[in-house]
Amino acid sequence: MTKYITRFAPSPTGNLHIGSARTALINYIFKCQYPDAKLYLRIEDTDKIRSTEEFKKNIINGLNWLGIEWDNEPQIQSLNINRHLEVAHNLLKIKKAYKCICTEDQLTVRRKKINTGEISSKKICISCETDNEVQSLDKGYVIRIKIPSTGKEILKDVIQGDVEVNNTEIDDFVLVRRDNTPTYMLSVVVDDHDLGVNFIIRGDDHLNNYFRQKFIYQHMNWEIPQYAHIPLIHGEDGTKLSKRHGAVNLIDLKNDGYLPSAIINNLILLGWSPKNQDNEIIELNNIISQFEIKSLSKSASIFSYKKLDFFNNYFLRLEPNRKTFEDYCISNSTLKEYLSLDKEKLFRVFDVYKKDISKYIEIVNISKIYFSNDYSKNHDEKFQDDFNHIFSEFLEVIININKWEYDIISLEIKEFIKKNNIKFPVLGKPVRHLLTNNYNGPSITDIFMILGKKESIERLKRYKF
Ligand code: GLU
Repeated sequence: MTKYITRFAPSPTGNLHIGSARTALINYIFKCQYPDAKLYLRIEDTDKIRSTEEFKKNIINGLNWLGIEWDNEPQIQSLNINRHLEVAHNLLKIKKAYKCICTEDQLTVRRKKINTGEISSKKICISCETDNEVQSLDKGYVIRIKIPSTGKEILKDVIQGDVEVNNTEIDDFVLVRRDNTPTYMLSVVVDDHDLGVNFIIRGDDHLNNYFRQKFIYQHMNWEIPQYAHIPLIHGEDGTKLSKRHGAVNLIDLKNDGYLPSAIINNLILLGWSPKNQDNEIIELNNIISQFEIKSLSKSASIFSYKKLDFFNNYFLRLEPNRKTFEDYCISNSTLKEYLSLDKEKLFRVFDVYKKDISKYIEIVNISKIYFSNDYSKNHDEKFQDDFNHIFSEFLEVIININKWEYDIISLEIKEFIKKNNIKFPVLGKPVRHLLTNNYNGPSITDIFMILGKKESIERLKRYKF
């Protein structure tokens, strides 16, 4: 059986985008499906101007947080530049590449003619290859690959199926720039080859690059990997998913209090669905046993934040994720403070509200109600007479509850309502307002439980009528 070697190769020119995280995830799932398979992480940092250490950290942190594991240390592409140049010079030597000194102006004129259809060949330089003087220069040139002007290539893509491109469509692209730096097109192939990568899973924005990159493999007599080009994800308006649609930086989603399991669930259902399943909840181990890369749809899928919220709400309510909530609190300055003030109370808030929230960050505003000191001030709202008549008696009932337990409080309230022959909202609404400054919210018994007896009574006593 083939020992699959795959890789995720982000450029650290931006934060880890949710779409790239999906590519990484699919690589990881694929690797987990074959016991001997390997997944490498390669940081493609040859664009020195746009690459930063901060983006690199963001990418690695995002992958770690999502639970994606790779083999060995991350590969740093810029450390291999000499090797990339060596391959380019090798191609020169075997006459599969040539030196070119065309000026930008000359190329612009030529490009225009190609674009308007005046010239049918895509060859951008037509004179340098046969010019002996140019070919014997020892600096001041770019290195271009030679692409045959006839024939065609059919890529048998695992996801896209057969994709065909005529060689006349491909220009003699640059391998090494005038400043002696290798281009992405060269570096990516050399590194993949040297790492033994034989299965490339990447975004379909690179599909066209295959028809260029394959010539480097071919000229070098290297084995061409298998390819699976994943369709991009779109926002609900059908355009490429971007900030306009919502958070797209994986770390921003983490800071908002989304869980890796919800993100994984949401991402994997874009263009794939498990068989024989009556709901859409699926966790990583099940995905690994059921996912088939070849059944991934080849059309773009829509990323829905509403769906993500639905999955997140499901996962954050699961018992094992109480620990995740605590970790989140530690990472958020407000919740960290509340955690140290009264951890049990914060957890009581979470337990009461978790069914209604879609991400942990919503607990910040909710818990302010329960941790704020404002409640020691007088309460200005005046309630109706039917409440005012019973309030003192109700306060007595609450003061007299000895065991502060949910069922006992709930029963006392029920009996009080019955005894006074009132409808629940007559009591419930004003009491909720006294306790939380809001007429709506959880049951007043839940609120009493969150606050505890002492604080509940303090808040009730603010009412002066
Ligand atoms: N570094 C490229 C990018 O971030 C990926 C290259 C590839 O997967 O071939 O888009």
